[in-house]
Amino acid sequence: MKALEKSKPEEGLWMVQAPVPEIGPDEVLIKVNKTGICGTDIHIWNWDDWAANTVPTPMITGHEFAGEIVELGKDVTGLRIGQRCSGEGHLVEYDSRQSRSGKFHLDPGTRGIGVNEQGAFAQYLRLPAFNVVPLPDDIPDEIGAILDPLGNAVHTALSFDLLGEDVLITGAGPIGIMAAAVARHASARNVVITDINPDRLALAEKVADVRTVNVAKEDLNDVKQELGLKEGFDVGLEMSGNQVALDQMVESLVMGGKIALLGIPPGKSPVDWSRIVFKAITIKGVYGREMFETWYKMIAMLQNGLDVSKVITHRYGVDEFKDGFAAMKSGQSGKVVLDWT
Ligand code: NAD
Ligand code: ZN
Repeated sequence: MKALEKSKPEEGLWMVQAPVPEIGPDEVLIKVNKTGICGTDIHIWNWDDWAANTVPTPMITGHEFAGEIVELGKDVTGLRIGQRCSGEGHLVEYDSRQSRSGKFHLDPGTRGIGVNEQGAFAQYLRLPAFNVVPLPDDIPDEIGAILDPLGNAVHTALSFDLLGEDVLITGAGPIGIMAAAVARHASARNVVITDINPDRLALAEKVADVRTVNVAKEDLNDVKQELGLKEGFDVGLEMSGNQVALDQMVESLVMGGKIALLGIPPGKSPVDWSRIVFKAITIKGVYGREMFETWYKMIAMLQNGLDVSKVITHRYGVDEFKDGFAAMKSGQSGKVVLDWT
């Protein structure tokens, strides 16, 4: 089969011929139709310190996918050949304290496909049946291929009650933009998203009914006044990984405000903890997606009017993967989807 592989520990990815994976009794074989390129895949392409310290080579990359089941392990029940699906790319163990209490997303032994285990940028993917998420007929493959990052957005956005709340999102990358659409769908009152990249803010306006703020040019305090927010935003969703954005968020929240942190800062970054203490702010770190509550909620929202399709800005056949990665690296794209069919 064709596969996009990190074949050697240096910059780049290579299209190789790889054997079709053999599945175990509790696994399924999925024929991959569409995949999404993630920021993680860019780190792996660039072979930065994180990638070099985390990813063994050779490794088939990729973890955002949609496809259909073509083979079932002998002990698999409840799934069928031909079933369209996406799936959770975090592989968990079942014997930790967290897993045994049903919080699979907090299992300390989590391994990621395309990072620690052979991934989804391939014509066929092996996956534990447990991780399969069937796709309803009204969710197309290209949306199926971005459920992983939409799930990050949903997990973060639904961390706190948003009904009637004023929500500030920092970072209008694909995940921040989708979080804005989710916050709207969840009936937040004002939804404001910040970035310093005008292309990203323009895309945010296309995808979601949201007030965009270019913090390189505009003062968030003016925006608060314009919206009549005397005391500040109730909930912050940090989706930039940028220290300055987090500081602005802390400043812009009400006393007792809540922050869900998805963005990953590069290395250790300084935080004004006394400000957080005196404002009595609650902070929650968010990793991955809840298994499988996030998946149920996101599919339900998609079936009930949540539309994030415009966040997909580029589509390529898999032989043009270099163009897809270039689009991602340009900083001007939303989600980039590769077609494997
Ligand atoms: P992205 O890099 O495409 O988007 C980040 C955006 O933040 C960019 O548009 C950038 O211009 C913007 N930004 C930079 N400085 C800013 C500032 N001062 N104020 C406002 N915006 C600023 O990333 P993405 O794919 O949308 O992912 C969002 C974040 O979530 C990233 O940090 C990513 O590493 C992280 N992430 C975390 C998890 C998790 O499980 N915790 C999963 C996926 C992604
Ligand atoms: Zn991803």
